[in-house]
Amino acid sequence: MDAKDIDYYSLGFEFIETKEMFVSNYEDGKWEEGKLVPFGNFEISPAACVLNYGQGIFEGMKALRTKNGEITLFRPKENAKRFNDSAERLLMPIYHTDSFVSAVKEVVKANEDYIPPYDSGGALYIRPLMIGTGPIVGVKPAKEYKLLIFTVPVGPYFPEGFTGIDLEITKKYTRAAPGGTGAAKTCCNYAGSMLPAKETKERGFAQVIFLDAVHSEFIDEVGTANFFAVINGTLVTPKTVGTILPGITRKSILDLASKKIGMKTEERDISYKELFEDSCTEAFCSGTAAVVTPIKSVVLDDKRRLFSEGEPGEFTRKLYELLTGIQRLEIDDEFGWIEKV
Ligand SMILES: *Cc1c(COP(=O)(O)O)cnc(C)c1O
Repeated sequence: MDAKDIDYYSLGFEFIETKEMFVSNYEDGKWEEGKLVPFGNFEISPAACVLNYGQGIFEGMKALRTKNGEITLFRPKENAKRFNDSAERLLMPIYHTDSFVSAVKEVVKANEDYIPPYDSGGALYIRPLMIGTGPIVGVKPAKEYKLLIFTVPVGPYFPEGFTGIDLEITKKYTRAAPGGTGAAKTCCNYAGSMLPAKETKERGFAQVIFLDAVHSEFIDEVGTANFFAVINGTLVTPKTVGTILPGITRKSILDLASKKIGMKTEERDISYKELFEDSCTEAFCSGTAAVVTPIKSVVLDDKRRLFSEGEPGEFTRKLYELLTGIQRLEIDDEFGWIEKV
């Protein structure tokens, strides 16, 4: 779609085509110098490893327009590093972190017209993707790969203001098991999360809370976002032990809580039972897409817990304001998290 035909004030989170994408191919053991090409389809062998065995990884980032028109990225080098961690888990080639960040900036610049205006609250979502394109029959890694980076303009996550979501704890499904691929941002993890999401939405919930696969007791993640709770005044989040995606937002929130708010923070096992006790006063989830999303209530079978009378908690709101303030250059970026494009 042409950039000027988009109504940036009514965008959701739907796919919209932008002008350019970045492509680099890996052949004979090395990456070619990538380049921008018009967004569009490409050919791929029916025997491509990604199509048959799911050898694909991705990242999710946002470019924001600030009040005075600058374009910012949030900790892009962290995405570059995580991309390579995911690549290693799936036996895919790594991509130089500096090349990753400069490619991201190139794509953003090329699609600058598609970055929603500051006052719309939207962002240009950036999707880096690496897929095994080489043909394969036996289960083993491809020899050829493709790196793609494309962008999609998206609306604000809270078009109706900062409000909480209702979640359902599932004991029927799990997202990841010890020794599996839960810590990698690999395509195959997400296909499996669609059915649990569909079923819980039909029951009126925004998402599921996944528990650990061994005990069905400790909280792993919320759909595709990291989980936090305030328990006895301490900010707690599940520790990253291989079944949890190490979120960059998660890591940033831990820093903001301890260094800007002076909260005690803990990375530990959190039993779902703790959410039903009075000592647990707030809960929220975090991610590039979800930012900081307050959790209004959690349900397991016929038990329901409503947090802070349905309003976002005090610390949840504070962390949301700090994070988005820094991202929009309205609060001093003392941690050096922002890169301008
Ligand atoms: C991407 C993702 C997150 C959030 O990570 P951010 O770096 O904060 O965007 C959390 N959980 C899952 C499963 C994810 O895929």
